[in-house]
Amino acid sequence: MPWVDRDKCTGCGTCVDNCPVGTILIIGEAAEINMDKCIHCGTCHDVCPEDAVRHDSEKIPDRVGENIAMTKKFMDDCEKYLESAAERKKCLNRMMKHFNAEKIIAEKTLEELKSLES
Ligand code: SF4
Ligand code: SF4
Repeated sequence: MPWVDRDKCTGCGTCVDNCPVGTILIIGEAAEINMDKCIHCGTCHDVCPEDAVRHDSEKIPDRVGENIAMTKKFMDDCEKYLESAAERKKCLNRMMKHFNAEKIIAEKTLEELKSLES
């Protein structure tokens, strides 16, 4: 999934002009991608003169941090609303099951996608 680093983007509009589905706009002097219409063709990466169109993998540390923060919030809320400290551990176990399921979904999806190569 492409995303634009607003600190690097100069708002030159090259990606806007070259996006085949017209899903990039200049908003507030920087490009923004409407992911609803993006077909993941990679053109915006290739044409950007500032290297401002970045890859998903660079957001992995941020995504992990968001997941940890979300889990801690759920743990706090479970303890608060269910009025028991024991609910923290139960909540943590549920969230670990949730992320384990997400991992299995990703692994199985990758297996299926490999079969599309042939
Ligand atoms: S990846 Fe392709 S479709 Fe998506 S925003 Fe970039 S140029 Fe447009
Ligand atoms: S081509 Fe790069 S620098 Fe120019 S508007 Fe698009 S993202 Fe910004």
